[in-house]
Amino acid sequence: MLRMNDLSKVYRTHMIETHALRGLDIHVKEGEFVTVTGPSGSGKTTFLNIAGLLEEFDSGDYFLDGVDVSKLNDDARSRLRNEKLGFVFQGFNLIPDLDLFDNVDVPLRYRGLPAAERKERIEHALAEVGLASRMKHYPSELSGGQQQRVAIARALAGSPKVLLADEPTGNLDTQMARSVMELLEQINARGTTILMVTHDPELAARAQRIVHIIDGCVHDLVRRKPSLVED
Ligand code: ADP
Ligand code: ADP
Repeated sequence: MLRMNDLSKVYRTHMIETHALRGLDIHVKEGEFVTVTGPSGSGKTTFLNIAGLLEEFDSGDYFLDGVDVSKLNDDARSRLRNEKLGFVFQGFNLIPDLDLFDNVDVPLRYRGLPAAERKERIEHALAEVGLASRMKHYPSELSGGQQQRVAIARALAGSPKVLLADEPTGNLDTQMARSVMELLEQINARGTTILMVTHDPELAARAQRIVHIIDGCVHDLVRRKPSLVED
């Protein structure tokens, strides 16, 4: 599903070069749930942003669902991102002035989907995260755990093949974090590949596979169970 070979990324600011990724190699199969851990500054967010086609890389190869990402122009990258990927962030990133229905609608409108299809996708996605009855509520009326569920619904509404989550439980208490993790596990069980950065060792250990990123390289991999799905 996702394959990176010898991937490097250098940030250049004020004459200072920061080697964020130094020849990173990884292969994530369709249907895997991978947690990404590692020290602060080791390159986890850079890795996730490149995987999510939000950032470019300097050298190496990246194939997403068989597509050679380095060969794409900006339009094709955006299209691939919208079609294949969903994003969940630590800070939820909901729009406070929009109700839940309209929040989930934002990326669907951006994709230009017709209204009837958008409505069906939004209702289905909010039902999947257990918030169907809250469609007309605003983010401020929800707990943090519920807001993160809305953000997950927004990602799911696009039917992504891969869900990329950067510290999705970082702003949540232990119980809400566990419940968001359970939701992600259910989503994964239905076939969505998940890559999740987390600092929480308990949550990391629940995944099928833990990837440690240290100094911009994948350091070691722990495979808990063989992946059920081959790509
Ligand atoms: P992590 O997510 O593991 O904390 P990051 O991927 O955020 O690590 O950062 C990896 C390295 O790249 C760090 O040294 C960080 O300071 C640097 N870095 C990240 N983003 C930028 C940027 N936009 N400009 C310059 N340096 C950056
Ligand atoms: P969770 O089930 O995500 O752990 P909580 O236990 O924090 O949620 O919240 C319980 C109930 O209180 C929920 O129905 C939630 O919508 C409501 N609630 C939480 N925070 C707020 C808030 N700031 N304003 C209005 N209602 C809230």
